[in-house]
Amino acid sequence: MNAKTWTVRQVALLVGGISGILGLLTAILCGAPWWGCALSGGLTFGLTYFITEYLLHKYVVYRIKPLYQLLLSKDIATSRLSRALRERVQDDVVDDLQESLDQLVSFGENEIERLLQREQERSEFLEGIAQEIENPVSNIRNYLQVLLDGALEDPEKRHRFIERIQRSADRLLTQIEDVRKLISYESGGAVMTKETFDLTELVYEVFDTNILNAQENGIKLKLRPGDFPANQPVRVYADPYRIGVVLDNLVLNAIQFNKSKGSVTVGFVDMFDKVLVEVSDTGVGIPPQHLPKIFDRLYKVDRKNSPKGTRSGLGLAVVKLILDTHGENVTVRSEEGKGSTFSFTLSKPPAKE
Ligand code: ADP
Repeated sequence: MNAKTWTVRQVALLVGGISGILGLLTAILCGAPWWGCALSGGLTFGLTYFITEYLLHKYVVYRIKPLYQLLLSKDIATSRLSRALRERVQDDVVDDLQESLDQLVSFGENEIERLLQREQERSEFLEGIAQEIENPVSNIRNYLQVLLDGALEDPEKRHRFIERIQRSADRLLTQIEDVRKLISYESGGAVMTKETFDLTELVYEVFDTNILNAQENGIKLKLRPGDFPANQPVRVYADPYRIGVVLDNLVLNAIQFNKSKGSVTVGFVDMFDKVLVEVSDTGVGIPPQHLPKIFDRLYKVDRKNSPKGTRSGLGLAVVKLILDTHGENVTVRSEEGKGSTFSFTLSKPPAKE
């Protein structure tokens, strides 16, 4: 028991003890015989003890109890707190209440700290997005100004600036789409619908979408079935649309951060009840100091010759979020100047299928 808290019994014993001593002293002073003194002391002690305990229960404990029950039943806390409190229920309500209030205070403090931290992250995220969006919008405004200032009359310049406006608008749209995806996955708004599908087919679809991008830089897109027989389906159990988003982001990065005439290879490794998917490139690689942060929202590696793409620094955050939601892992290994490999696992279909 806490040194500062007294149980009802202890208070009753103290009051009873003091009264018993007073009863004994009164009997001695009145010249009562030894048995009379003992009787007076004993009776005073017993009576005061029981009356004090009764009164304390009636006027203190029973008034505190509803408050205590309120603490347990009220939805002011999460089930975590309720469970913690219920485990602490003992006979002595005053002790329990003290401990429960201590727990409530520390829970409240932790909750406030967590919310403040989230608030801070949220404002940093919004600030980052504002900076990201500012760039293409001000580009569009500047190009329009140049056109209005006379470039509109020159067919060659007109074409060039309108193309740039289109690129900036594309970039803006991709950024907005990435932010929307991230928010909907984070808030649990995007429900995963898992089914059995062929990973090989999905990889070829992703290659098809990115083929123009790859050809522009002379980059070859390859599929390496690894442990699986060639031209046979590699079946996994996951959300095909979302895994398509994952592969699309990884393949597009592998193309954009590649060297001219390089290659992008998607390979499979058989791992008992999982398939390990590897997206490798022969590109610029990622410096080791950036690797721990690469999946953070809005994180980009600053490079002198960064590709002028339409990316937002959110692609890998979306990849990680989708795979987290599937309960799967994603990792990266990279060597500067040689290339990078992003790997993630997917579950094979359940045995009964
Ligand atoms: P974005 O591509 O929009 O910048 P991502 O979240 O997809 O955002 O990637 C974050 C950073 O990681 C990129 O800025 C890039 O520098 C680096 N990166 C991602 N994939 C690769 C890759 N395959 N090779 C080299 N660097 C990469």
